[in-house]
Amino acid sequence: MGGLPPGLPPPSKRAVTVASLLQEGRYSGLLGSRGPWLLEAMEVWVGLLLLHLGWVRCEVCHLGERQSPIDIISADSRYQEFRPFTLQGHDSLSLKAGTLYAENTNGSTIKLKASSTHTKALLGGGPLNVDYEFVEMHFHWGDVDNEDAHGSEHSVDGVKYPLELHLVHRNIHDDTVAEAMEHENGMTVLGFKFKIVDDEKHPKNEGMDHLTSIVKTYLTEPNSKVTGKELESLDLDVNVMNFLPVLMDEYFHYHGSITTGTCDEAVNWMVFKNPLAVTTANLRALQTIHSTDGKVVKNNFRPTQKIHGRPIYYHGLDLIKMGQLKRGSNIGLRDLKTPSHEQFLLTLSNCPGSPRPAPMWDTEGERADTNLWKSKSCEDSSSLSLQPGLTALLSLALLLLP
Ligand SMILES: [Zn+2]
Repeated sequence: MGGLPPGLPPPSKRAVTVASLLQEGRYSGLLGSRGPWLLEAMEVWVGLLLLHLGWVRCEVCHLGERQSPIDIISADSRYQEFRPFTLQGHDSLSLKAGTLYAENTNGSTIKLKASSTHTKALLGGGPLNVDYEFVEMHFHWGDVDNEDAHGSEHSVDGVKYPLELHLVHRNIHDDTVAEAMEHENGMTVLGFKFKIVDDEKHPKNEGMDHLTSIVKTYLTEPNSKVTGKELESLDLDVNVMNFLPVLMDEYFHYHGSITTGTCDEAVNWMVFKNPLAVTTANLRALQTIHSTDGKVVKNNFRPTQKIHGRPIYYHGLDLIKMGQLKRGSNIGLRDLKTPSHEQFLLTLSNCPGSPRPAPMWDTEGERADTNLWKSKSCEDSSSLSLQPGLTALLSLALLLLP
């Protein structure tokens, strides 16, 4: 229960993991539940055999009732006021600095992973009760040659996008990702959708341009890898911050699963509403990578899964302003004022030489966000990046001063 947002009811369904299915013996139902000892013994052996063959894995993916991705129906979501997200250290994760490396993961996607020796990049705030550490980020896409409007895993009101990015974070109280996969608040994934902007005048995502150049040159073959060393002579860098927008206040939150492998129901999902900008050339470059059977990787997304009555929470202003959602009639006087966008500015540095945040697809929104970002001084950045504990200590010290 550690990471449940305050005031939110616990999810009605228990997380389905491989371990829980084995404990419950759900796979044994294939042969009948109670029976003579011989049958029960047979069930154990058949169960072990099925486990060996990977059937149990399939059961989590097929029988789980908290699976991802989903189609989010915005009118059915519930408004919640969550704190701003706090990010610390994501701007120090870069290929050139050696704190990040890129790979073609088993011919399935492109991943940027944090080096194990790097100090932690932490995500907190929003509906999260504990901090989560950045582990890796990866992409899901469609087929740029056939249709540009599918490829994302999540959709909103049935609308899909050509690309989706997942920034995967692990609960800091879990020592390994495997441990985190065993409970419902083990992981937090920030999901960003992308929409195509081929207008030359639209601000470019330098990190995405650099990453896609690197993909075409170094990462087309399965399990190929790029570290900072290979890039030493090149003027190419990719920073995690290049994929984070200036504002992170328009999003949907729900409890779900990872969308690959064993589909463990261990994820706090944050699905951001407004798409980031990507070019057709970027998409085309991602779709040059090869799978283990030598084919070009296309459509590496999982189809949407049933919601099974799970609550979907919405944080933001857009749907309230559009009259699609209400904030509720029981809000206290203190909460009457609607929060402003400015309170949700990305808590990473804006100093000379800092990496640039991700441009938004919407031209007007992008312009407004750029102006907001410009108004943030380098000093603001350093004070925001202080640990909350340290800030509290400093405040106490100031109070105690004569
Ligand atoms: Zn993913």
